[in-house]
Amino acid sequence: MLLLTRVVLLSALCAAALGCPRIISRRQWGARPPRNRVPLRTPVPYVIIHHTAGNPCTSQASCSRQVRGIQNYHMDTQRWPDIGYNFLIGEDGNVYEGRGWSTVGAHVMYWSAKSLGFSFLGNFSSRAPNAAALNAAKSLIQCVVSKGFLSRSYFLKGHRNVNPTDCPGNALYKVISRWPRFKGKP
Ligand SMILES: [Zn+2]
Repeated sequence: MLLLTRVVLLSALCAAALGCPRIISRRQWGARPPRNRVPLRTPVPYVIIHHTAGNPCTSQASCSRQVRGIQNYHMDTQRWPDIGYNFLIGEDGNVYEGRGWSTVGAHVMYWSAKSLGFSFLGNFSSRAPNAAALNAAKSLIQCVVSKGFLSRSYFLKGHRNVNPTDCPGNALYKVISRWPRFKGKP
């Protein structure tokens, strides 16, 4: 009985490690409701990586505060219906739900309807995100593939590969350009 419990516990732990990262829901970070939602046609073929170019955060409380601020900026200043990104990634190792798996984002010109946009919280021009954030992002990619929202033959790109921008910052771009399925050119 004890052995069985252990096996069950171990397999649950492995499932967590190989599956999805910890995702902080909109309710948990205190999101405002979206003004509207356009469904994404999934599975999409691309993941596009961004940085927010703002302050970094290393706790759930400070990352949640950052995400609320970004949502306010996108909704009130940019006049978008919701926060632009599909997911945000903190250096606390958590993923924050933006528009989520199945809603078209507003994170790139021309590519939003065929991609998921993941944005690292912080400015990664001169330093890379910490291991907790990088691992959360890699795990999130595997997670969306396993859930069927991202094609198994997806390509990974930086924002700068599709629009004229420095995003996601030189240091982060260098890291993701070595990740599996990265494709800089169209
Ligand atoms: Zn970007």
